[in-house]
Amino acid sequence: MIEMQDVYKKYPNGVVAVNGISVNIEPGEFVYVVGPSGAGKSTFIKMMYREEVPTKGNIKINGIELTTLKENKVPLLRRQMGVIFQDFKLLPSLTVFENVAFALEVIEEHPDQIKKKVMQTLDLVGIKHKARMFPNELSGGEQQRVSIARSIVNSPKVVIADEPTGNLDPDTSWDIMSIFEEINLRGTTVLMATHNKEIVNTIKHRVIAIEAGQIVRDEQRGEYGYEG
Ligand code: ADP
Repeated sequence: MIEMQDVYKKYPNGVVAVNGISVNIEPGEFVYVVGPSGAGKSTFIKMMYREEVPTKGNIKINGIELTTLKENKVPLLRRQMGVIFQDFKLLPSLTVFENVAFALEVIEEHPDQIKKKVMQTLDLVGIKHKARMFPNELSGGEQQRVSIARSIVNSPKVVIADEPTGNLDPDTSWDIMSIFEEINLRGTTVLMATHNKEIVNTIKHRVIAIEAGQIVRDEQRGEYGYEG
């Protein structure tokens, strides 16, 4: 599903954020990416959805070679993956329904199909009853549910999340994790950067630890391995 081969990322300011990473992630895996702040986790993840381009190396996702992908093909790539952020990134002027429908409208789905898919997805993440509300009328946890719905409504094969519970209280974080579990059980590959030690040590999955831009640990059913 995801193949990285000897990937480096040096930012224009000279910082080497990713310093030679090779990794394979198989279809259907759930992988946590952990490590101290500044280790390169976000950069690693951003290269997967082509927000950043590696300085060196190759990245293949679902058969698409990202490093040579033309800029005008990036939207095509993004439609095959769901991306979820710590700060939700919903469009404030659109309702919950519209925020999720937006992802389908750009690919010109039939309106009846859009409505059906959006409502099914909102139901899956437990926020169907708030479909007509606006993001600022929702709690953080509810906004994250909407953002997850938006990311999966296209049925992507892979979902990439950068600190999805970073802005949420512990109880809400567990609720959000159960949605990711459900998505993964349905066969979607999940890659998640997180600082949430409790979650990583309780809901066991593969753990990739990054320090100073390199993979220092890669374990099936691994531990968080850091304090706090
Ligand atoms: P993490 O997600 O593990 O906190 P990041 O990937 O955000 O790590 O950052 C890794 C390193 O790259 C840090 O030293 C950070 O300051 C630097 N960095 C991140 N983004 C940029 C950028 N756009 N330009 C320059 N340096 C950056």
